Amino acid sequence: MKVQVSNTNAPCWRDITVKSRVPAQLDILQEMARNISWVWHSEAIEMFRSIDPVLWKSTNGNPVLMLQQINYERLEEIAADKAIMRRINDLYDEFKKYMDVEKRTDLPSVAYFSMEYGLANILKIYSGGLGILAGDYLKEASDCNVDMVAVGFLYRYGYFTQTLSMDGQQLANYEPQNFNQLPVEQVTDENGHPIVLEVPYPGRIIYANIWKVSVGRVPLYLMDTDLDLNSEFDRPITYQLYGGDWEHRMKQEYMLGIGGILMLKRLGIKKDIYHCNEGHAALINVQRLVEYVQNEKLSFEEALEVVRASSLYTVHTPVPAGHDSFDEGLFGKYMGEFPAKLGISWQDLMDLGRENPGTNEKFSMSVFACNTCQEVNGVSWLHGKVSQHMFQPIWKGYAAEELHVGYVTNGVHFPTWAATEWKEFYVEKLGRDFLTHQDDRKMWEKIYDVPDEEIWKLRQTMKNKLVNFVKDDFRENWLKNQGDPSRIVSVLERIDPNALLIGFARRFATYKRAHLLFTDLERLSKIVNNPQYPVQFLFSGKAHPADGAGQDLIKRIVEISRRPEFLGKIIFLENYDMKVAKRLISGVDIWLNTPTRPLEASGTSGEKAEMNGVLNFSVLDGWWYEGYKEGAGWALTDKRTFQDQGHQDQLDAATIYSMLENQIVPLYFAKNSKGYSPEWIQYIKNSIAQIAPEFTMNRMLKDYIDRFYSKEAKRSKLLVADNYKKAKEIAAWKQEVVAKWDSIEIKSVNLPEAILYSPHVGEEYPIEVAIDPKGLGNCIGVELVVTPVEDGQMKPYQVYELNVVKTTDDSTVFHIDYQLRAAGTYKYSFRMYPKNPDLPHRQDFAYVRWF
Ligand SMILES: *Cc1c(COP(=O)(O)O)cnc(C)c1O
Repeated sequence: MKVQVSNTNAPCWRDITVKSRVPAQLDILQEMARNISWVWHSEAIEMFRSIDPVLWKSTNGNPVLMLQQINYERLEEIAADKAIMRRINDLYDEFKKYMDVEKRTDLPSVAYFSMEYGLANILKIYSGGLGILAGDYLKEASDCNVDMVAVGFLYRYGYFTQTLSMDGQQLANYEPQNFNQLPVEQVTDENGHPIVLEVPYPGRIIYANIWKVSVGRVPLYLMDTDLDLNSEFDRPITYQLYGGDWEHRMKQEYMLGIGGILMLKRLGIKKDIYHCNEGHAALINVQRLVEYVQNEKLSFEEALEVVRASSLYTVHTPVPAGHDSFDEGLFGKYMGEFPAKLGISWQDLMDLGRENPGTNEKFSMSVFACNTCQEVNGVSWLHGKVSQHMFQPIWKGYAAEELHVGYVTNGVHFPTWAATEWKEFYVEKLGRDFLTHQDDRKMWEKIYDVPDEEIWKLRQTMKNKLVNFVKDDFRENWLKNQGDPSRIVSVLERIDPNALLIGFARRFATYKRAHLLFTDLERLSKIVNNPQYPVQFLFSGKAHPADGAGQDLIKRIVEISRRPEFLGKIIFLENYDMKVAKRLISGVDIWLNTPTRPLEASGTSGEKAEMNGVLNFSVLDGWWYEGYKEGAGWALTDKRTFQDQGHQDQLDAATIYSMLENQIVPLYFAKNSKGYSPEWIQYIKNSIAQIAPEFTMNRMLKDYIDRFYSKEAKRSKLLVADNYKKAKEIAAWKQEVVAKWDSIEIKSVNLPEAILYSPHVGEEYPIEVAIDPKGLGNCIGVELVVTPVEDGQMKPYQVYELNVVKTTDDSTVFHIDYQLRAAGTYKYSFRMYPKNPDLPHRQDFAYVRWF
């Protein structure tokens, strides 16, 4: 036989994970480390840090990893140290007390779906604002004891870590996460074996591990497809957040929606409300429909009543292009089997995701979400309005202002984002129950009783902390990556806690206009180089790896920051994440935000600043449109002067410079004999008393409960009672209306001649409409819609319902005495619509005929 060069096969690697061992008394440490409630309990963080400050730092503040790496002798030492053990035991008692509180049963239970969650810096399953909002939400749900479960992905790589090359080019590094070193647990079955979720994809099953993050009392279940059972094409589904092509995105959203519901089913979890955080998760409703059709034997229409009544869609993106939509071919490749499961046609399914059914538009996730969720909301008052306009094409019979699209303004989780020093301060000065009574506005007002000096001192402490953080955390990296050590040393020497520090950190998307400040470099140089009134800017933020313009912007800022006149005055901090954010929003004096209105749906970083006595200077957009109060921050006007964006940018930049020069800088440096500016402190007090309490996550969660959850829970309970009696009734009624709708006949419209030819203000005119409702009798409503016309523009509708005054077999007569209220030019029209008190709102059944 011929001797081969080599004869072998691949190694048969099998996984084992060796758990670290700690002395028995320290098991409670492990338990606390594995519930990430330590993130917002500062004493717990301090306790972990005190165990081994060096390891704490080198593990990036990850107690799970720290306990794995710490040597056994040190642990035995701790176990033998009475003082430390007492502290650990006390904290553990508190932790248990927190955990043991029963969930509230008087509130609806909620299943929450999101592509990302920003819970802690060490858990890289978030990219920015959307994720942090979702993370904050779960934390607040835990604090408020809401019965909530959340669904997402455990990404192998997550979002990228940012470094800069020598010339300021952003480098994106995707580092794998080792799940065993994170505060997550793999979910196992009753025999202790890991549960492997099976999600049917076309032609194959895709498998997913299930991991659980304990967010205080709220479980967050994360799916992970990075396992051997999957092909090399499917394993990467949960590798990256917002990476890959459209097909990848399709596979991900399929997993989040279809897989997410199957996972909850596998875990035996059912909730009252299904909340879709952004359109990514909208396919949950497809799978939920399937469950009702297959298991409860409902028709598609009946199932849709039930699903819609119990679901809520929160939209976060004000630009239509920001919404995911899939080509019919691609969508069909993955969703092709669903129409059969639902008992509808392919066309029917596609049309649920189209603004114009019957065309060949792509399948839009947000249109589908609007069509399958009873409630839809934007994330600030202004964004709610913008969303009405964005979604108007879905419900063409109604004007944008009439749409049932609400809003809840975003908020931030106070215990996460207020610095430890501020939390202690609030508890000491404003009330011992402060943390559990954040909705007590009176408590916040006690800030007015605090002596000015104490606030100034605290602010100074936080500024020093930020400066030290920059010096400690960035020095090494800068020396390594940015060349010219002498320049870096001089940057570090120039950072000055006595300067007015202005922060600007966010995603580098062009609409955020980070470039605005750099419109006139000479003027900017004068501002930062005034020896009496020093001003420094700290920038931070990532650009999406596919966003070239965003990356160029970063490069430009870095270049400017290296010019002699800006050295140490404009500083760019790499890798904006929750840790950098927390230092910045608590350590600067001013938080600057300059988006193009109205593209900032809400924004939350400025709200975090509010919690820390940091003042906002921002465009009146998103949350600041509601938040701004005179004497408590600064606003760039909401009036648009120029159509041309370039001109508008120049004007806005000039306004920013002038407000800094004439108002903000002088106010900050108007120091009294004690070395602080009393007027500045007054601004801080105003902002804490009048603005901050409106933008907590506590307020936001309550708004969701009051405006949506409770209402939906009540109605959906009614719909499913008695074997879905009401849902079936409504579905049957809609079928009947649909069948007869087109045959309904408008028999006559009678307006007095006078209103047509010589209408007078104040006069009442009888108007009558007769229709043949084809047996639908009192199920038809008729409205007179009037709209003033000013400068050729139609104004918001004025709507008047006509009353039924006479019914016969083939005729219903409607009547109104209509009074003209003001002189002017008007347009008017009539419309009829199907009327049923069981419907939650008009767009639930948006049949409208204008005549
Ligand atoms: C809060 C936060 C955001 C969102 O802030 P915006 O005001 O929406 O830009 C983004 N990234 C990080 C790291 C944050 O902490």
